[in-house]
Amino acid sequence: MAAEIIDGRALARAVRREVKARVSELAGRGVVPGLAVVLAGDDPASQIYVRSKAKMAARVGIAARTVRLPAEVSAGDLLAVVERLNADEAVHGILVQLPLPAGISPEDAGRILRAIDPAKDVDGLHPASLGALVAGEPGFVACTPSGCMRMLAAHGVPIEGKRAVVIGRSTIVGKPMALLLLAAHATVTVCHSRTADLKARVREADIVVAAVGRPQMVRGDWIKPGAAVIDVGINRTPEGTLVGDVHFAEVAAVAGHLTPVPGGVGPMTIASLLHNVSLAAAGRPGGAR
Ligand code: NAD
Repeated sequence: MAAEIIDGRALARAVRREVKARVSELAGRGVVPGLAVVLAGDDPASQIYVRSKAKMAARVGIAARTVRLPAEVSAGDLLAVVERLNADEAVHGILVQLPLPAGISPEDAGRILRAIDPAKDVDGLHPASLGALVAGEPGFVACTPSGCMRMLAAHGVPIEGKRAVVIGRSTIVGKPMALLLLAAHATVTVCHSRTADLKARVREADIVVAAVGRPQMVRGDWIKPGAAVIDVGINRTPEGTLVGDVHFAEVAAVAGHLTPVPGGVGPMTIASLLHNVSLAAAGRPGGAR
């Protein structure tokens, strides 16, 4: 079997068209959606992500600004920046790019994310947004998992009653992904670094989401024939190319659907962010689900 490849770039273009239409509608009411990205330090991957977010925002008519801060910035200064953006009426969405510099403790990082006004939490990482997801209430959904759900939906992958395995339990990807699949009535197993016999768990799944950060860890013989496989991982090889957490060639020969890296989940993550910003500007957090 040769898997149907889920083209994240094409789907992201379609999402951007929807967002652009909403942005035009808002313009008629005199509203220009505004996104503020806070970038502290000089992590090279973060620089690239922030640049692409700003570029894509501009394409759909979202006014994006990046607040650049030095790696030595204090937690207090970061909190002050977030407070200022909370109070700024031109800013509808606030995103603090992670990871924060090494000098910011995990506790302070938590305080900084919690300081974001939940109505502007377009990254969906505030405890209020995560809590709303658990409770099935309206709220912003983290961008990567919501992009993954759109990819499954766009290709008509059935979820209700199916077995889903999410590999990875981070707050940014794994946990919200599992909750979204659960809300769509899948039977969900969350696997992680201490899961016993990971291959056997994955082999049971109709839907596999790999969000680990280990190059090509998921092999062809882990996959149930016909399963839908979403590869969230972004890993740089020593040769400088990007690969996912899934061994693409092997899995493509077995799976029913597969997302590529690059050109899969990455573009959809940014498209979901733009979607969330347009909803925030329209005063509708939670239309995302
Ligand atoms: P993370 O490091 O926070 O979490 C990784 C998870 O993988 C952990 O829960 C851990 O328990 C699990 N894990 C580690 N080793 C494992 C093993 N051997 N077997 C099973 N599970 C194991 O990472 P994250 O932020 O969730 O990101 C995961 C990957 O997704 C990374 O490659 C990251 O770059 C990528 N990512 C991509 C996008 C995108 O837009 N495409 C967005 C976010 C993250």
